[in-house]
Amino acid sequence: MRKKIVAGNWKMNTLPAKGEELAIEINAFLNDFQLNDNTKVIIAIPYTHIDRIVQRIGSGKLAVASQNCSQFEKGAYTGEVSAEMIKSLGAKYVIVGHSERRQFFGDNDELISLKLTQCYQNGLLPIFCCGESLDERNQNQHYDVVKTQLINSLAQVGKSDIENTIIAYEPVWAIGTGQTATPEQAQDMHAFIRKIVKDLFGSEIAAGLSILYGGSVNAGNAEELFACEDIDGGLVGGASLKIEEFKTIIRSV
Ligand code: PEP
Repeated sequence: MRKKIVAGNWKMNTLPAKGEELAIEINAFLNDFQLNDNTKVIIAIPYTHIDRIVQRIGSGKLAVASQNCSQFEKGAYTGEVSAEMIKSLGAKYVIVGHSERRQFFGDNDELISLKLTQCYQNGLLPIFCCGESLDERNQNQHYDVVKTQLINSLAQVGKSDIENTIIAYEPVWAIGTGQTATPEQAQDMHAFIRKIVKDLFGSEIAAGLSILYGGSVNAGNAEELFACEDIDGGLVGGASLKIEEFKTIIRSV
């Protein structure tokens, strides 16, 4: 049975002390809540928070992700943070290829492949993001765009690494806009993504791969989205910073 996952993406929000409070609250909620063994909750937090939050929450039910990593292993790359550094702080996951990184920081398919390699080499599990823009959907190019992103970044990944990968389908037009994909739109694309993974890596891997939906998930729409056959949870931005709303989303999964 594939894993159900709710991952919160805090983006560039909260100062460390506030982030710590939020993480402790989520952790306490998970400690009281009968989270089934097959379900994971992750928070993707700023680099500056990782050490402090991992120290406070320990290795319980809440796991920590970074929101990016360098494509380089180490060396003269001023301002970069390597996968090895992230791993050493106790984070387990890394978001790779988020649309905001693609849009503002030039993360293209080639760079994303290098970042994935860094994750695999350091035992970090990537949450690989893909998704089309509004223009691309309006021009009926969304399937081609997502297929190209998947093939360009994942086709060379080995089978044992792909098993340690989470895919997040995040239509760009739905991120931070309040305009969520309908369950039908999301399910259609998730089934399409699973089919591509099946063509690349075989049916067993495709059946076991968790594919998350991201794009204005909130307390009101999570249950319906997560009930879809190929939607295995969500990557949640804005709503993950609102504790009560995030709890409701976790309950939904
Ligand atoms: C995200 O940051 O990945 C995201 C989906 O944001 P939001 O939920 O705010 O749309």
